[in-house]
Amino acid sequence: MGVVTVSTANSARLFDRASSVIPGGVNSPVRAFQSVGGTPRFIAKAAGSRLTDADGNTYVDLICSWGPMILGHAHPAVVEAVQRAATSGLSFGAPTEAEIELAEAIVERVAPVEQVRLVNSGTEATMSAVRLARGFTGRSKIVKFAGCYHGHVDALLAEAGSGVATLGLPTSPGVTGAQAEDTIVLPYNDLDAVAAAFAANPGEIACVITEAAAGNMGAVAPVPGFNEGLARLTKAHGALLIMDEVMTGFRVSPSGWFGVDGVAGDLYTFGKVMSGGLPAAAFGGSSEIMSRLAPAGPVYQAGTLSGNPVAVAAGLATLRNADQAVYDALDRNSQRLGTMLGDALTAAGVTHRVQFAGNMVSVFFSDRPVVDYAGAKAAQTWRFPAFFHALLERGVYPPPSAFEAWFVSAALDDDAFSIIADALPAAAEAAAAATDPTDT
Ligand SMILES: *Cc1c(COP(=O)(O)O)cnc(C)c1O
Repeated sequence: MGVVTVSTANSARLFDRASSVIPGGVNSPVRAFQSVGGTPRFIAKAAGSRLTDADGNTYVDLICSWGPMILGHAHPAVVEAVQRAATSGLSFGAPTEAEIELAEAIVERVAPVEQVRLVNSGTEATMSAVRLARGFTGRSKIVKFAGCYHGHVDALLAEAGSGVATLGLPTSPGVTGAQAEDTIVLPYNDLDAVAAAFAANPGEIACVITEAAAGNMGAVAPVPGFNEGLARLTKAHGALLIMDEVMTGFRVSPSGWFGVDGVAGDLYTFGKVMSGGLPAAAFGGSSEIMSRLAPAGPVYQAGTLSGNPVAVAAGLATLRNADQAVYDALDRNSQRLGTMLGDALTAAGVTHRVQFAGNMVSVFFSDRPVVDYAGAKAAQTWRFPAFFHALLERGVYPPPSAFEAWFVSAALDDDAFSIIADALPAAAEAAAAATDPTDT
């Protein structure tokens, strides 16, 4: 028998209390369990592959803070680096040597990136990269793909993945027509649509922004030739290609998805892993493009806490400890997880696809491969809440959404996998027994 949740009374009490002072009780929507129902777990602490909630229940963590924690939680080297940095002062508003080291670590790993600017969140990175692309090209329009999420940037929220998909929102109130009208939304993995957009908007498209491999509608890898085609079309039309590697960067390989398919973008955005779990992110590209940024150039971008010494220390320690053995473990663990998921669902007779994008994995209750957002939405997502809760009750914590990738860490050990193995048969049965709420 796996671990079984005893009580959620403390989490329920905290959620009530949170809900009166924090909208929806959470500081980022998907955490609220809205699409799966039930009580969001308030986390008290974490170590290695395990989370402990406010009631003392423990969980095998398959979210990893939505990607960053590739080394596992509270990794001693990262904690020590953070403590050492904090002791030397929390923020200076002036440059530090450690920022250079983090920039060098990124530039060393991702060949098309010659310069990077550090920011505080992935949202800030994509917002700034789009501004730079517009400033560099002197054009206004941007192309994004349905189901890709690039943070909550006004112009990038249209048909976005992640929480926007989870909550079933087409876009967001508060985004004006003017902010959205220069955004062209196309189906992911559809190069013909991209070619047609360039033909219909000659000389007007500043950039195409894409997740280097999509993870925010579930794991949906680019089909062979898609990223190459984007590189070719953007180049042919004088536009820039922004590879959003906030999720894939330094996770799916030491050099992110670039290390997987070798297709070079013009601008890159990073976050999550490179921050080691603290708030830090970055965008980068060739010196030619990046030198258009203030103070070297006219495109303005700034941040009071950018390059924060504690966040930089966490990011550097994470990258330095992510050696080949860590990447091998991430790949091995995601394959092992994917195989277990597939076997359990097959045994329970549930139609499904287990999909990978590098070492990101997810389950679609679908009878065909999912290559775009329409496919992800067409899956039997109503099976997910039962599957999710059966796992959670048995000590396994996957993302609380059918539209998110599952994230492994290198800290998943045999004990963790045996908890997952014990939980899966009942979860697969729960998914099999779920009924379509729209069936009458
Ligand atoms: C998480 C994510 C972002 C946004 O990063 P935040 O730090 O949450 O603002 C942007 N792009 C991608 C691909 C992401 O996965």
